Amino acid sequence: MLKLHKLDAWHKYSALYGTGCAMPHDLPAAYPDAKAAALLIWAYAPYENGGHISSYYPASNASYHASKAVEAELNAAGIAAERAFIPARALCIANGVGHQGKNGLLSIAPYGTRIALETLLVYSHIEPDAEQVCAEGGCPEGCTACIAACPMGAITKNGLNVTRCMRYIMNSGYTEEIWQKQQTFLGCEICQAVCPKNAQLKKLPVPDAMAEAFELRRLIAGNAKAARMIAGKNITGNGRLTMEAIAFAAREGQCEAEIRACLSSPFEQVRAAAKWALSKYFGGI
Ligand code: SF4
Ligand code: SF4
Repeated sequence: MLKLHKLDAWHKYSALYGTGCAMPHDLPAAYPDAKAAALLIWAYAPYENGGHISSYYPASNASYHASKAVEAELNAAGIAAERAFIPARALCIANGVGHQGKNGLLSIAPYGTRIALETLLVYSHIEPDAEQVCAEGGCPEGCTACIAACPMGAITKNGLNVTRCMRYIMNSGYTEEIWQKQQTFLGCEICQAVCPKNAQLKKLPVPDAMAEAFELRRLIAGNAKAARMIAGKNITGNGRLTMEAIAFAAREGQCEAEIRACLSSPFEQVRAAAKWALSKYFGGI
């Protein structure tokens, strides 16, 4: 149970970089009747040989549905609670839960950074108790693994420069640099993959249905329905998965004919990626 704080440091940072996503920062003022925020942690394992596929999408989807179920159970038991769109990571840090590493990600032992967070505002009387449950050692002395691995040079010894992180840049449109460097659909996980806080996590095989849904040739042909169901429709519109698949395939020298067909895609970003891919890897448009 997290205490609701006024998150001034987060507000200053998010206002500077435009990363606030319209979430409130003064939580006691925004939710004067709430007694605490219940933190729900959905820990997940990375995929073994996942290629461009991330295990985060099913985890994020599952955490959402699980939080809805917990919300319903609490309310059915007479404990007033509601899902909240609040800065969960900043609230954890303000409560002393977990540690924000140089890569900017929150880690909570023993799960590392492979966690999806959900928060429920609780209106029935309850005492915040977060400090009792989470001890986290922080970054090991001298560790620079994420600094060395970040393809965008976004991490320094002082922390993350969010404006250089490709996950942030993607929100306002893809660049040729991202098409060149992105490794994982819908994001980047390189600084998580190398982080020793995640070293203990047992990797799982990619489920067959998932591997099939994210097959590059299939996505470039515009058949993204199954992958969109897994990753979530709200973040995969306008041919986003097709655009990303074009970049991955082109760098691997695959799917020239399918990429060429994308020049007449209804989606501008797909056409742009196809032009880039054909010019850079297949001798021109
Ligand atoms: S997510 Fe990728 S681009 Fe962003 S800081 Fe981590 S390694 Fe760098
Ligand atoms: S890779 Fe090392 S420095 Fe970077 S967040 Fe993980 S522990 Fe910290």
